Amino acid sequence: MTRWAIVTDLDGTLLDAANYSFEAARPALEEAARRGVPVVPCTTKTELETKYWLEKLGLKGPCIFENGGGLALPVRDFPDPRPQRATGGDYRIVALAVRGTRLRQGKDLIRSRTSARAVFLSDLPEGEIMKRTGLSLEIAALARRRTYDEPFALEGELPPTLPDELARLGLRLSRGGRFWHLHGDCDKGRATRRLAGWLAEKSGPLRVIGAGDSAVDRPLLEAADVRVAIQKPDGSFDGDLCAGLTHLVKAAAPGPEGWNRAILEIFGAPEPDGAGGV
Ligand SMILES: [Mg+2]
Repeated sequence: MTRWAIVTDLDGTLLDAANYSFEAARPALEEAARRGVPVVPCTTKTELETKYWLEKLGLKGPCIFENGGGLALPVRDFPDPRPQRATGGDYRIVALAVRGTRLRQGKDLIRSRTSARAVFLSDLPEGEIMKRTGLSLEIAALARRRTYDEPFALEGELPPTLPDELARLGLRLSRGGRFWHLHGDCDKGRATRRLAGWLAEKSGPLRVIGAGDSAVDRPLLEAADVRVAIQKPDGSFDGDLCAGLTHLVKAAAPGPEGWNRAILEIFGAPEPDGAGGV
């Protein structure tokens, strides 16, 4: 029987894009728990924000945060000292990307090239974050303390020279569902491969189901054996997420409802023949 791990985006994928509900995904979450399949959030959210959602979702395993910049491993399951930093006693944190000064230089560069059109989440008061995201005050406070990834809203087009200028600082841009993201040389795919390697080392071969709804999730889907694209609320799929991808399952509904249907379908599908996909 196939051993699965599910690595999943949160906003617009496992969580509803507007109200952050995951009620519609409960049957598949419960089936994953019954089968012992780890469900690993892989998100641009911060470490604290992601841990908040781990608890809400009833998950106790690892998570990937700030667009693959960091990975949190439960000490209980990963007791070896390889991860570089421990926080809060329960998790070891693996840093996979640059932080601090380099990101600040990138923010300054973006501001200088876009004048007032780029607004960084980490510069906004909590009330303004609540207005822009629909997050509660409690979560907005967790969302603005960034380490590896700086989300920003941008009116209009990205200046065409900006990606190359940022690359000279070792920085990259990705487009999420709500914001652009400035980050170092990390992405959800690299973090997923690292984690899948450790999970396989610990408990044997496994196949990864990757799920996401936006361009920023493309590396996650590329790193997965079975790729689930989730519909946007208007029923469309993100072209930059899906273009040219094989082994792609297109969910039959937006957000958590699509997630639920796709995961249950994959669990119920016949065993793969080794070529990947369902
Ligand atoms: Mg998303």
